Amino acid sequence: MKENFLIVCEGFNTPPFRAGLLIFCILIFCGFCISCTGRSSSRSLPESSIENNSETNNAAAQNQDTEGFIRDYWHVYFERANLPDYIIENIISHLVLGPDFLMELLSILDGDPSLYILVDKQHALSQDHAPDDLAELTGGAYSVTRQDLMLRRPAAEALEAMARAARLDGITLTAASAYRSYNYQVNTYNNWVRELGQEAADLVSARPGHSQHQLGLTLDFYPINDNFAGTTASGWLEQNAARFGWSLSYPKGYEDITGYQWESWHYRYAGAELAEFIDKYFDNIQQYALQFIHAYRNME
Ligand SMILES: [Zn+2]
Repeated sequence: MKENFLIVCEGFNTPPFRAGLLIFCILIFCGFCISCTGRSSSRSLPESSIENNSETNNAAAQNQDTEGFIRDYWHVYFERANLPDYIIENIISHLVLGPDFLMELLSILDGDPSLYILVDKQHALSQDHAPDDLAELTGGAYSVTRQDLMLRRPAAEALEAMARAARLDGITLTAASAYRSYNYQVNTYNNWVRELGQEAADLVSARPGHSQHQLGLTLDFYPINDNFAGTTASGWLEQNAARFGWSLSYPKGYEDITGYQWESWHYRYAGAELAEFIDKYFDNIQQYALQFIHAYRNME
């Protein structure tokens, strides 16, 4: 049976997506079709209440089977990603309704890996990871606090688009820090260690290789401190950043999850598709989504 499904999916059957496509095909051809057939026949063929109850029971049993299968299949990924129960239940509730979650995940994985790569306390970029499409932030619809800021071109363009929309609402976004090379991060981290000691420095600054800023996709808005949270720009970003592909990396109350203190000013460009994915399935917690994608990719 599995082989038949794989043949159907042959055109898309590249190794990273093999297991994902397998479950998609199984759900499409078995679970959803059978449960839909059950529901439509109960509507089109009015029978005795006993028969209707029987069909309803069959459909309910089928739905339970489908959910059980989904839980079994995804369990290992959820566990590896260390997701909390409420996130898992949210994803399961979407999975039982249809294949959107899986299709959106596969589409994201088919895009630029830098958008979803996990960079945190445990996962580092190599010393020589340096983007080759950095563009200077000259300040278009946004302002800059200094002239040498750079982001990768897709992020710079998304910043400009977002800043234009903010301007229409009477808000000016100001960029204060962007791409940081590995060596720059060495100096930054060492300065914090000198000032605060290593333990405190680790809460406010990433060790070299562990900074999202090395991706060239991450931006700190001005001011780079907690005062930013009280600005209209911060409120506007909370409501609108995801539409333009930007995601808050270190939200308030998730210090134990992200490893960092709340940073209301620090946004990572994930692309509109992933930003929406984070919001829809992961309660807008970027870290959960990236941990999940990391677990999924490493087990395929
Ligand atoms: Zn930052």
